Parts: sequence; structure tokens; C-alpha cells
Amino acid sequence: MNFAFTEEQEFFKKIITDTVDKMVVPKAREIDEKDEFPWELWKDFTKLGYLGLRYPEEIGGMNADPVTAMIFYEQIARGSVGFAQSVIMNILMGTYFVYRFGSQAIKERCLFPAMRGEKVATMCFTEDQSGSDLAATRTTAVKDGSEWIINGTKMWITNGPVADFATVLATTDLSLGAKGLNFFLVEKGTPGFSPGQVLDKLGCRGTVTGELVFDNVRIPEENLLGIELNKGVEYLAEILDEVRVMTGAMAMGIAQAAYDEGLEYARKRIAFGKPIGNYQLIRAKFADMATEMEASRLLIYSAAWKMKEKLPSRIEAAMAKMFATETCCKVVDEVTRIWGANAFANEYNPARHFRDARFLLYGGGTHEILKDFMGRLLIGKA
Ligand SMILES: Cc1cc2nc3c(=O)[nH]c(=O)nc-3n(C[C@H](O)[C@H](O)[C@H](O)COP(=O)(O)OP(=O)(O)OC[C@H]3O[C@@H](n4cnc5c(N)ncnc54)[C@H](O)[C@@H]3O)c2cc1C
Repeated sequence: MNFAFTEEQEFFKKIITDTVDKMVVPKAREIDEKDEFPWELWKDFTKLGYLGLRYPEEIGGMNADPVTAMIFYEQIARGSVGFAQSVIMNILMGTYFVYRFGSQAIKERCLFPAMRGEKVATMCFTEDQSGSDLAATRTTAVKDGSEWIINGTKMWITNGPVADFATVLATTDLSLGAKGLNFFLVEKGTPGFSPGQVLDKLGCRGTVTGELVFDNVRIPEENLLGIELNKGVEYLAEILDEVRVMTGAMAMGIAQAAYDEGLEYARKRIAFGKPIGNYQLIRAKFADMATEMEASRLLIYSAAWKMKEKLPSRIEAAMAKMFATETCCKVVDEVTRIWGANAFANEYNPARHFRDARFLLYGGGTHEILKDFMGRLLIGKA
């Protein structure tokens, strides 16, 4: 067995850590406070080429393996999870189906500019009545000659208010449930496609999130992103593991940022004549946090390694997501205790980490859904 990163992965980790420290960390508070899409940082950061992280070099990507990708996801979330979420949407969920199924013309219009940061991408599943339960999707796609007509409203869409194009989950037959689902590409400027309400969120601020409305949106036949009709759920399975492990890696980014703030505070905050880090009960918190973060990273990077080696990773990805995001919530909670009242002040970072950590509990599947899913796989059809 070998638990070490390769030389290239170590080198990548150093570069991305330094880049995040220089470009993202100093802006994190402002991004959270303003809660607006950080265009200036977006332009500067996306010039560096990371948006093509997972795509082949022949089309301008970096061809990074899943382990390297997790290093990136962890580090950027350490800097600012609000910014990370927008960036990762362009890297992964917002572009994957365009890359996988888009025609050359679609790739030239959408994928390649998105890899350069010139276009913002998004992915829309969620609706008012359907979150975990995708089979309850009510957005419809009806064929009319050589066009599809899309009708419906999507909710909670990351980058939605600023997106140049969206991959949209819609059903071709409401009676088929999950078996009628497909992905469609809808581009900004298409009549009937418009942003709706923008959400005022607890955390992940700076990533703009909102409603997207599809009112008799006509798109050409080729905007169906799939080879076969009604196979959307099968196609979705292709990126589920990466999305889940990525969510765990983001959680470790937030946890590390909070942990580092906790350490600094424990070393300098004096109570009863000594730094609070001298008290056993405070030290124990660091021992517990460090242990659970180490365990989370082992789950994350071993699941990513399995993905890289094309080994089965469905259960491992769900475990990594669940354990790492729960650990993150514990760490940000402990750090707010260590910081005492100061953690309650929005002017300090622990409050932001505490708010941000909550989102990762839902993204990539809620833990109730993941436990049920894993249980079914582990027990089999009892
Ligand atoms: C900041 C943010 C950004 C987001 N970005 C996007 C995006 O870009 N695109 C997008 O499509 N969506 C996005 N979402 C939505 C996200 O994917 C959903 O929140 C998620 O799928 C869960 O759905 P829900 O919130 O409707 O919860 P529900 O599915 O309504 O679940 C509510 C509760 O019931 C539980 N529950 C549901 N079914 C079961 C069951 N069978 N057994 C046991 N418990 C169950 C859940 O675990 C949860 O605790 C975003 C959400 C947030 C907060």
C-alpha cells in the first residue's frame, strides 16, 4: 500500500495552496459580506486554467486525475466556499453533460468558453416539490417537430442568476417518474428562459443562487444531452461519485480553515492566566478534530484513488461525503466554542465557517438519503 500523493500531486498541491492563499483567502470575508458574484476574482482566477481541470489536454483542459481534482476542491473551499462553489460548478456539474454529449458546435459555444471562464455554467435538478426525489420532477420537455419545448421552474440553482447556459433536468413523460428524465441544454438569450428570485442564504454567500424559469422555451433537437432518450438517471450516475467525494473534499477545506483559526486562538487567548490551549479540555478538542479530519481525508482520497483506478467506488464515495461533511460540522462547532463570544461576531471567520459548513450536508445527497442508499447496497435486496 502507498498512502502518499505522487510527486506531481504534491507539486500541484503546493501551487494551488499558494494560489488560494494569495488570491482567494484575502477576498473571502468581502465575498461573504457582499454576497455578489465576485466577477473581478473570477476573471483573475479563471485565467489560470483550472476550470478545465478534469477535461482532456486536447481541448484545453488539465486532464487532472480524481485525486488531484480532490486536492483542488479542498484547497479552493479552504479559501472561500462561496467562490469555490461557483468555480466547481463550471468544472464539474455545469459542464459535464455538455462535454459528454454536446455536438462540436455546442462545445464551441458553451464548453470551451466555460473552461476559460468566459461563460458561467449551471446544473438544474431541484424544484419546489423535488429535491432528493428527482422522480417528482415537474419540468417538462415536449417534442415539437425538430425542437423541444421546456416548461417549468427550477429552484436553488448555483450560479443561476448569472449563468450563460444551464443543463436542465426535465421529464418527457410525467407518468414515467425517474424513467422519463433527460438533460437538456438551455442557453441565455433563448426566449422564455429567465432568472427568477435570487435567494438570500445563510452561508456559501457570494455564490449567487436562485430560481430559473422556463416558459415555453424552444431549443433545437441537438440540445438533448444524451444518446438515448429517457436515460438521464443513468447518465447522472457517471458523475455522482465524483460529486459526492468532491463535497467531502470541500468540507475538509472549510474544516481546515476553521481548525487553523482555532489553533491560533487557543495559543494566544488568555484565561485564568494561561493560554486556553494549555487546558486539557481544549487540547482534547484538537485531538478529536485532527483525528476525524485525518479519517475523513483517508476516506476522501482512497475513494478518489479508486475512481482513478476505475475500481467500484459508489459506497466509498457516499461514506466519504457523509463522514467528511459531518466532521466539518463538528469542527466548525468546536472552533466556535474555542473562540467563545468572538465566534458570534460576523467580523471574524469562525462565524462564516459555521454558516458555510451547513450547505455541504445537502449538496451531493442528504445523509438520510445516502444512508438509505448505502444500506440497500450493503444488505442487498433482503
Ligand atoms: C446553497 C445551495 C446550493 C444548491 N445548488 C443547487 C444547484 O446548483 N442545482 C440543483 O439542482 N440543486 C441545488 N441545490 C439543492 C440541493 O441539491 C437540494 O437541497 C438537495 O437535493 C436536497 O433536496 P431538498 O433540500 O429539497 O430536501 P428534501 O428532499 O425535501 O429533504 C428534506 C429532508 O427529508 C429527508 N428525506 C427526503 N427523503 C427521504 C427518505 N426517503 N428517507 C429519509 N429521509 C428523507 C432529507 O434527507 C432531508 O432531511 C442547492 C442547495 C443549496 C442549499
